[in-house]
Amino acid sequence: MARYIFITGGVVSSLGKGLTSAALGALLQARGFSVRLRKLDPYLNVDPGTMSPFEHGEVFVTDDGAETDLDLGHYERFTGVAARATDSVSSGRIYSSVLEKERRGDYLGKTIQVIPHVTNEIKDFINIGDDEVDFQLCEIGGTVGDIEALPFFEAIRQFSQDKAPGQCIFMHLTLLPFVAAAGELKTKPTQHSVKELRSIGIAPDILVCRSEHPIPDKERDKIALFTNVRRDAVIPAYDLKSIYEAPMAFHKVGLDQAVLDAFQISPAPRPDLGRWRDVEDRIHNAEGEVRVAVVGKYTSHTDAYKSIAEALTHGGMANRVRVSAEWVDAEIFEAEDPAPHLEGFHAILVPGGFGERGTEGMIRAAQFARTRNIPYLGICLGMQIAVTEAARNMAGITDAGSEEFDLEAGKKRFTPVVYHLKEWVRGNYTVRRRQDDDKGGTMRLGAYTAVLEEGSKVAAVYGATEIEERHRHRYEVDVKYRDALEAVGLKFSGMSPDGRLPEVVEWQDHPWFIGVQFHPELKSKPFAPAPLFADFIRAAKEVERLV
Ligand code: GLN
Repeated sequence: MARYIFITGGVVSSLGKGLTSAALGALLQARGFSVRLRKLDPYLNVDPGTMSPFEHGEVFVTDDGAETDLDLGHYERFTGVAARATDSVSSGRIYSSVLEKERRGDYLGKTIQVIPHVTNEIKDFINIGDDEVDFQLCEIGGTVGDIEALPFFEAIRQFSQDKAPGQCIFMHLTLLPFVAAAGELKTKPTQHSVKELRSIGIAPDILVCRSEHPIPDKERDKIALFTNVRRDAVIPAYDLKSIYEAPMAFHKVGLDQAVLDAFQISPAPRPDLGRWRDVEDRIHNAEGEVRVAVVGKYTSHTDAYKSIAEALTHGGMANRVRVSAEWVDAEIFEAEDPAPHLEGFHAILVPGGFGERGTEGMIRAAQFARTRNIPYLGICLGMQIAVTEAARNMAGITDAGSEEFDLEAGKKRFTPVVYHLKEWVRGNYTVRRRQDDDKGGTMRLGAYTAVLEEGSKVAAVYGATEIEERHRHRYEVDVKYRDALEAVGLKFSGMSPDGRLPEVVEWQDHPWFIGVQFHPELKSKPFAPAPLFADFIRAAKEVERLV
């Protein structure tokens, strides 16, 4: 039976609930406990798969093929526990499952209500895998008081009543705003937020208070007094230079101890924080900097490529070098020479993406990297771009392109070296899709095996000839162009086990040019950087040495 920690937020959104949960998960692991982290999101989308990454941030894909919230990425990066489809749920999914059961007649003619039917559905979800880990951390999206979140708050209240006393605790994250005119941190919003939580029957055991300024003892006492939370369970959370400092920072202010106290776990097992000390050492003792241009569709939402940004940081940590990633809008050089925009970077990365916008610029960026011997990492769309560039400029297929863009434009312009995949093999069964299927879940999603050619660069990078990485795409490089492209030097060095789907391409006579159909960034961790990112940054560092 697991112990449960429910994490809620108040005052304002974006306080870093996801990171706090992830860091706490890491600290409990350091004390020898097994953990699983979950996210319960109040929005009505069934999953984030159809939500714009420019609005909601990146879609994080799990091994078992679920499209989930980007917070699951934080959880995985901090704990190393591979996220699963059952680690993320939304109101939309809960309601659609309740309605499905209603249509099937499962409720035997009863009137369907939020309490108990919706709340029961949520509780059943939280209970999944109850006997698998020591601690389950469940983060509720949004802030207390949100209308959509109410069934979730009610469900976790009931859940803690259903379980044995002391099996569940509540942790609430708030903000202490600083009013410059008065020179004071204000505790009132925190008091109100806790009051609101209490009014729906939840009394927090732990408060984590975000603040840009040190919290004086007197304010901490006041918060404890007015919120009825033990003083040593009022935990300050200050801004950090790197998110990876969070586990050590929270440990120093006693978060993990407060959690163990709340569960009355005594004596508390001593923590082994070696992993996080090493991570901090790598962050603080980096030498030099490599500049990486991430050439994509312009985005002002930095979370749209969250895992890429993090994986680049991990690659830097592996090489003890700082990585400065700059987002370059591919549209600005769609019709001109990209050199003025790309000179000065040590490496170029073209990330995943959907739609035609900006792709002509990305093709020029790939050509620039190829001809100037600049390290290039193409991920998903970035691999398709690299293949298109090779087809057009080296293999004489001058009108090469992706079927995705023709379908989007509603006219035929390209020779489809990248085509819409409608049928593929997963394990020992065949998946079939139609073009007009629902948008949700029609992609090749989740972990697939790739077989790497012995002696290839990518096999050397992984130190293996069989790997598993996560996918999220509808289109594939057409294997029928393999011979033509290999003849000009673009090797198809990784294939699906049945040999039909190209997984990796690499230029043979280039210092480092690799395109992969999968997303290596999703499995990268600060303490175990993704091999492709670690080696990409190593290669970028070599470039620096040459300059
Ligand atoms: N749009 C491309 C496809 O669907 C690439 C997807 C991606 O980069 N994730 O195949």
